[in-house]
Amino acid sequence: MTAPAQQFKSQARVLARDLRHREIIQVALRNYEVVRDKTRSAFQDYQAARQAAAETKWEALNHLDRYLEQFVANLEARGTRVHWASTGQQAREIISEILRSKKARSIVKSKAMTSEEIHLNEALEHEGFEVVESDLGEFIVQLRKEPPYHIVFPAMHLTRGDIKEVFARELGGASSDNPEELTMIARRVLRQKYIHADIGFTGANFAIAETGMISVTENEGNALLTAALPKTMITLLGIEKVLPRLEDLALFLPMLATSGTGQALTCYNTMYGGPRQPGESDGPEEYHVVLLDNRRTELLADAEQRDALHCIRCGACLNVCPIFRNVGGHTYGTTYSGPIGSVITPHLRGLQDWKHLSYSSSLCGACSQTCPVKIDLAHHLLHNRRNAVRQKPSLIWKMGFKVFAFVFNRPGVYRWIGPMGRVGQIFHGMIQGTRLDPAYSWTKTRKAPKIAPQSFKEWWKERR
Ligand code: SF4
Repeated sequence: MTAPAQQFKSQARVLARDLRHREIIQVALRNYEVVRDKTRSAFQDYQAARQAAAETKWEALNHLDRYLEQFVANLEARGTRVHWASTGQQAREIISEILRSKKARSIVKSKAMTSEEIHLNEALEHEGFEVVESDLGEFIVQLRKEPPYHIVFPAMHLTRGDIKEVFARELGGASSDNPEELTMIARRVLRQKYIHADIGFTGANFAIAETGMISVTENEGNALLTAALPKTMITLLGIEKVLPRLEDLALFLPMLATSGTGQALTCYNTMYGGPRQPGESDGPEEYHVVLLDNRRTELLADAEQRDALHCIRCGACLNVCPIFRNVGGHTYGTTYSGPIGSVITPHLRGLQDWKHLSYSSSLCGACSQTCPVKIDLAHHLLHNRRNAVRQKPSLIWKMGFKVFAFVFNRPGVYRWIGPMGRVGQIFHGMIQGTRLDPAYSWTKTRKAPKIAPQSFKEWWKERR
């Protein structure tokens, strides 16, 4: 078993039994489900909206070369410097080079999962830069030195008490666990960071080819401040974020808000199109956009699974996944957790090391049903399983299927399977669930099904 699989298994075992953890997640998601359903019902035809969103993404991805060029040309026309990064390493180098050239010391960041994907914070801190997350949830997990727990709700696994504790320890404040007081403490700290930051850093929810603009969606206004105050701004985004037209946002912004947080629309939806233009009163003097591939083009080349790039990172599939709800986000050991993480991580980080994630699913299909851009995640998990076996078949599986084929091709042999199984089951019953049991990993938590006392064929024969 690979190290990531081992880590997943041992952590899942602990967390699935942790009733407090489970309770926190259930409570956090209960309210989400109510408001999400209410907002969905406000759409004239939610299923038609999903179909339209899927088709728009299909168009964007199938003509990505053209739309990316258009996006970049429009951005550059307003003075933005665009950088292309094939790998996470290249993206980190580009960003730290910009920081060095500006003699920057501090960076204030708004939420960007792409930066988590390339481990940007660790790399920049290693070089001596101060990196501050300004999204409240991200700020809390950064203080706890943890990765985000969820794509949309980074601190979902924490109670108010946990947050009070970390604020008291790291910021020397917090006399109560009142959410308003806690928010004010974070706000006081962060306001100072915005004022003194040399660089503002954001991710992007969408990139509009037609206008060359970056669309950022948020609820706290932190991304606005991140972009408005520092003199230099950097945006890092994956190349799959492109949408063809500005009017597409009329569909995608409400879809993202509804699926992500259950809101009709998030509080702040801002478009960034370049550095401060003559006559404008705010905005950065210099704007850099880093476009990240990091194996996305390999996924794009896979016609069968290409639509996994349609993902708008709303997190809805995580919220409905029975596995995520029981084992939590950190157990996956990946940037993107839940069903979408299980589908794309093997593509981004290696199929053999991460194939176990394809099995961390009940295949109930709830993720496919909820996805606003209609990615058939459950089927993609099956594709990943098949590809992993094709690439490197396990000896036990190979032998198992050989035996299966041998028996099922020979009716004379097959006839003896039932009686032999019934005898074997008597002996198996003596060791079932113990370490002597060859099927221990299965039977330690379940009972083996009983073989029927009579096969259908025997019953049919007797009946006549
Ligand atoms: S796969 Fe679909 S449901 Fe899951 S995060 Fe992406 S867009 Fe949302």
